[in-house]
Amino acid sequence: MIDLHLHTTASDGLLSPEALVARVAGAGVTVMAVTDHDTVAGIDRADAAAGARGVRLIPGIEITAVEDGRDVHVLGYFFDRHHAPLAEFLEAQRADRRRRVKAMTSRLAALGMPIDGADLLARHAGHAIGRPALAAALVRAGYVASVKEAFDKFLGTDGAAFVPRQGAPVRDVVKVVREAGGVASIAHPGLHRDPALLDKLASAGSDLDAIEVFHTEHDAAATARLLAFAETHGLLVTGGSDFHGDASGRAIGLGRVSLPAIHFERLEQSARQAGAR
Ligand code: AMP
Ligand code: ZN
Ligand code: FE
Ligand code: FE
Repeated sequence: MIDLHLHTTASDGLLSPEALVARVAGAGVTVMAVTDHDTVAGIDRADAAAGARGVRLIPGIEITAVEDGRDVHVLGYFFDRHHAPLAEFLEAQRADRRRRVKAMTSRLAALGMPIDGADLLARHAGHAIGRPALAAALVRAGYVASVKEAFDKFLGTDGAAFVPRQGAPVRDVVKVVREAGGVASIAHPGLHRDPALLDKLASAGSDLDAIEVFHTEHDAAATARLLAFAETHGLLVTGGSDFHGDASGRAIGLGRVSLPAIHFERLEQSARQAGAR
């Protein structure tokens, strides 16, 4: 199995890099990519653990771009994780995450649900904090019964405490990934609210390399539609489970969702050429 979409505690996953590798290897995965949100901090430890288990690890990331005020997740693979401009870009992304968490705690306080934002940021020091940390805090404080309820009522795009991200559009994020020697893919396009968005992102002049076709939340019809879209637009195909941990409250596709080898080989081939770009 090939799983190119996985999260660790470096962002909002529940497992440490070592524990994730153990879980993933146990599920039969032989090629994996850790794709934490806006950070590469989990990769070195995951790489060491993967090496010890005979699992191949590809450097990965999931960067939040902002397109017309909406978050669009961009996956990057095979880049140089020590590339200075990339590191600088990611530091700014994490700073905006902290800004957003603070802004959302203010909204929550105004709604009568105070949570200690400074404590939350301290707990996640050195990690890319995100809304799941706020959701967990709301559950701990007893304001909601579940992470799902926290997102549905308060933290989701239509939630009462929602604050949008600020940052670069997809085009610029793709550029940062490519300049670091990597290839860029649009994450879980089947979840986009606006079905025309993918057309726009893949349109002429875009440097986009790939789209994520295989994903836990893509059903058979969405997978087939996206595969055809990739073919029509000359895009490569990526895929992975987007596993955040067994207790994450999300559907679990680990061990079920796999990128077919032919697509991985094409991706790797393209990345080799990108290295010489
Ligand atoms: P953020 O990175 O702060 O924008 O938060 C996005 C993350 O929150 C996603 O990557 C998911 O892990 C998680 N998430 C988003 N929507 C939901 C939801 N409805 N239920 C549970 N987790 C969610
Ligand atoms: Zn996440
Ligand atoms: Fe995502
Ligand atoms: Fe993800």
